[in-house]
Amino acid sequence: MGKSKDYFKGEVGELKQVIHELKKDIKRLQKVIEGQKKEIKTLKHALNDSILYINDDLANIPVEQIIAYFKDKKRGKLDEVHEHHKEELNNLKEKWKCHKCLTGYLRMVLLDRGDKKFYMRVCVNAICGNRTVLKPYTSDIEGITE
Ligand SMILES: [Zn+2]
Repeated sequence: MGKSKDYFKGEVGELKQVIHELKKDIKRLQKVIEGQKKEIKTLKHALNDSILYINDDLANIPVEQIIAYFKDKKRGKLDEVHEHHKEELNNLKEKWKCHKCLTGYLRMVLLDRGDKKFYMRVCVNAICGNRTVLKPYTSDIEGITE
């Protein structure tokens, strides 16, 4: 009997030790949290100061200048889109270059015949006359339509 009582005492001692360690961990974490709360408070103050500063600055900028800024920004984006489209088109023109006249490229012409669509490729060079035969069209067929 005495042996199991000693064993039990040992277990309790171990648990007490674990609890003691956990309490120490909690204290340490509470200190970390306190530190972070202080840091957040400081950051909030800095942010509020920045907002006041920016508001002051904005009040001094003429409205026309702000509008012009956003217009330029938007135009820049559109230019990028056009540039990308032009590049793709040039790649396609190179891919579908006419091997007969070597100056034009083959444009895709779509034809509706009842419920079926057909296509052929025609050289854009009017004096070349190079064209492919009419074939059934599916949406995965690539080509220049403009
Ligand atoms: Zn041609």
